[in-house]
Amino acid sequence: MVSIAEPPCYNHIINGQDTPPKENAYIDVICPATGKIIALTADGDARDVDLAVEAASTAFKNKDWRFMAPEQRSKLLYQLGNTVLANAQELAQLEVEASGGTIKRVMGLDMLAIADLFFTLAESIKDYPFIENLAPKLLPEQVNTMVVREAVGVCGVITAWNFPLLLLAWKIAPALAAGNTVVVKASELTPTSTYRVIELFNTLLPPGVLNLVSGTGVKVGDALVRHPKVNKISFTGSTRTGKQIQTAAAETLKRVTLELGGKGAAIVMPDANLELVAHGALFGIMMNAGQACESASRLIVHEDIHDELVAKMTEAAEKIAVGNPFDPNTGMGPIISEQQFNKIIAYIDSAREQGAKIVCGGERRHVAGCENGYFVAPTIITECRNDMTHACEEIFGPVLSVLKYRDIDAAIDTANDSVYGLSAGIWTEDVVEAQAIARRLEAGSVWINDWHMMRTDAPFGGMKQSGYGREMSELSLHSYTEIKAISTAFERDPRKKSTYQLVHSF
Ligand code: NAD
Repeated sequence: MVSIAEPPCYNHIINGQDTPPKENAYIDVICPATGKIIALTADGDARDVDLAVEAASTAFKNKDWRFMAPEQRSKLLYQLGNTVLANAQELAQLEVEASGGTIKRVMGLDMLAIADLFFTLAESIKDYPFIENLAPKLLPEQVNTMVVREAVGVCGVITAWNFPLLLLAWKIAPALAAGNTVVVKASELTPTSTYRVIELFNTLLPPGVLNLVSGTGVKVGDALVRHPKVNKISFTGSTRTGKQIQTAAAETLKRVTLELGGKGAAIVMPDANLELVAHGALFGIMMNAGQACESASRLIVHEDIHDELVAKMTEAAEKIAVGNPFDPNTGMGPIISEQQFNKIIAYIDSAREQGAKIVCGGERRHVAGCENGYFVAPTIITECRNDMTHACEEIFGPVLSVLKYRDIDAAIDTANDSVYGLSAGIWTEDVVEAQAIARRLEAGSVWINDWHMMRTDAPFGGMKQSGYGREMSELSLHSYTEIKAISTAFERDPRKKSTYQLVHSF
């Protein structure tokens, strides 16, 4: 980073070097809690992408990087994870300032989860099947065949603003673990922590292995997706953008993985522990002010317990500390931008217009010292139908839509009645029944009696229009590797090769 003015100015990182944008243009980065400009970030274009892809392409030719022994690469992954822990305070400061995520969560969860993912993959690659020998076979002579998994090449990584560092780690950890080289484009709303961690990682990696080009989706993101030397795109963001990316990537037949939107549904059965559900369901939707793709935004509650649960949730929601994300007591920070704030309020208005009832929240929350911040009060809406706009579209805010059910089959149908398929859950004391219901829910993750149950050794990803591909766990290595079969023949006498006789006469 070069401080050429106040506020600080963030360039690209290409071939290990801080690199100003060709156009010399910059975008303001705004703190969502205060509305103040906190930084300037490079407003890159296709020329910057070209430079970064060239660097990544050259770095990929480096055999020492590509074919590094797993034991050595494992040590490197441990170093990367430890770098995050050693610099957690600084990274968290940048993350909270730009994204509005609370310091309590970023320090207490995100930093640890990021390091843990590097450590998990550091162990996974030690016995990952990078090379497998098939049993000998006569075809018609004896051959040896190895099936190898190799790095895909230059990977373009495009991330969203809601958990900037976590989403970045989900992509670059497996990409580097498999020996790829990477060009990252972070969200233009939250680029600062990404810049810093890539700067830190570059002290450990060969030049050109991990590059960053900052800027907008339409210029930098699109140029990355269309670049002929980029072999894979890994994207986290909205379903709308994901569809555009898949279409654009088709031109060069890139490998694409997409982590997109969601409309998570949790079913609350009549025997559920309501004290637990009241707090757990709110944890499921209010964490990060509902700006999480796998939030529990729909709660499908049995009619016998509906009123009691809504009363308990309302009481708990009113106690959630909405405030300055840097305050260690804050449980819910601001919405990322004015645009996103207005979108959430419009969804709440549409719920009212369509006959649903706002039982708590539903309006802007004013926070002392953060008068220009975009805060929304924790909101619970009852009397919802699944076809109401707010109940079926992704709001991406602290808004819980409560639906009633009588019959469990109908509840499962309601949960599945969504274009999305990222997260689903069940609250009940009957875990045997819950596990059976879990098999019928159309979602990449199903959580029983809790929410956000991510673990770095379990795969995470979507079904339906929530995308495809899985992040985290050993399985994430599959999507950063290509499979190659290498066969070796041993017969040296051409006359003894029966297949040659198909062409030659001896
Ligand atoms: P977005 O789609 O607007 O932007 C995501 C990223 O894509 C940004 O870096 C943006 O600059 C870039 N981009 C935009 N247009 C592009 C284009 N045409 N080509 C290439 N890149 C482009 O999404 P957002 O508003 O930043 O993030 C919120 C969305 O992300 C929500 O829908 C949320 O559900 C989703 N999300 C999904 C997951 C998951 O794991 N499934 C995780 C977090 C967020």
